Amino acid sequence: MKLNNIDFETYFKNYPDENGYFGKYGGAYVSDELKNAMRDITEAYQTICKSSKFISELRRIRREFQGRPTPISHLERLSNKIGNVQLYVKREDLNHTGAHKLNHCMGEALLAKYMGKKKVIAETGAGQHGVALATAAAYFGLECDIYMGSVDIKKQAPNVARMKILGARVVEVTHGLQTLKEAVDAAFQAYCNEYKDAIYCIGSVLGPHPFPLMVRDFQSVVGIEAREQFLDMTGELPDAIVACVGGGSNAMGFFSGFLNDPVEIYGVEPLGHGPKLGDHAASLMYGEEGIMHGFNSIMLKDKDGEPAPVYSVASGLDYPSSGPEHAFMQEIGRVKYDVINDDDAVDAFFELSRMEGIIPAIESSHAVAYGMKLARERGKGSILINLSGRGDKDMDYIIEKYGIR
Ligand SMILES: *Cc1c(COP(=O)(O)O)cnc(C)c1O
Repeated sequence: MKLNNIDFETYFKNYPDENGYFGKYGGAYVSDELKNAMRDITEAYQTICKSSKFISELRRIRREFQGRPTPISHLERLSNKIGNVQLYVKREDLNHTGAHKLNHCMGEALLAKYMGKKKVIAETGAGQHGVALATAAAYFGLECDIYMGSVDIKKQAPNVARMKILGARVVEVTHGLQTLKEAVDAAFQAYCNEYKDAIYCIGSVLGPHPFPLMVRDFQSVVGIEAREQFLDMTGELPDAIVACVGGGSNAMGFFSGFLNDPVEIYGVEPLGHGPKLGDHAASLMYGEEGIMHGFNSIMLKDKDGEPAPVYSVASGLDYPSSGPEHAFMQEIGRVKYDVINDDDAVDAFFELSRMEGIIPAIESSHAVAYGMKLARERGKGSILINLSGRGDKDMDYIIEKYGIR
């Protein structure tokens, strides 16, 4: 499949380029000292991703520890209620630790081990990345420091407890809005001080090259499995696929399996309370080109050009930019990006729980809401949604704020 002079048959060979660019997006905007650290990580990654020992070790971990492959479920009752469209979900909620994030954390921690590092450092929003990385660190016997905003620490108490039980140190970030963006700043700063012994494991397809590339590659297992499973189940490809986009890792891994197929691809951003700056985190929809956290992408800016405050009911989607590959996908028109607000996401949270017995993460509920909306509009065909995680972590907050519906 070709689009705007890009041949998706050979896409992964050419994107990103050797400097980490997807078109004009991406790159590595870091200090000279960190440039060397990024070069070391890139070299190590380029070596191991071709090593059969690394690949078979990661495959074994996925099978024996993570519980992969995760299944695809047909949402029969929900599909019948809506009409003639068949809805399916890829069950990343059944991946160990309850979300897709362990897919890249196990890869990053295995890389850390290979490079002889003693510690992994990261930020976390909903706490899912922190739990996944703490899990990977425990598995490999690495130290683990997790930076987390005070607001998120209060909202996500069970995940904070999980990280501590798994042996991680949770470092509270008390400045600014005390959410994901500040946590990224603090974790990045810590990494600048400790890069000789530690590796920064970013939680999405964000940050300087090679992270957007590595995280996409580690997450591509979702798309590869999903394509094969869907073909096995139905004999066809889905007409459309949908995933929620925070930083964009679950979406990019899932989409990567279908880029070369005649499949419509939708990325769903959080509209929060509405389109006013500060009320949402829909960076691709409302943002402009800019550099933050070491990469060039589309971001939401305040009047001084700094990353703007953002909001979503879903802590994991609460970030003022998205990965550079998503900015590129939007520019070339391969993926269509759209939004779902808090209320529709919460409705979908209850609808999937009631109709199918699956309590989705509130992040994933944005994708479910959009899949249901598409189903109503189209009235035929099939839609595969990436259910990025399970909703146990969100239940208390949602019941307190919205009551039982
Ligand atoms: C973190 C998280 C997300 C958002 O991160 P992406 O990098 O955009 O995938 C989505 N869903 C769940 C369940 C998460 O934990």
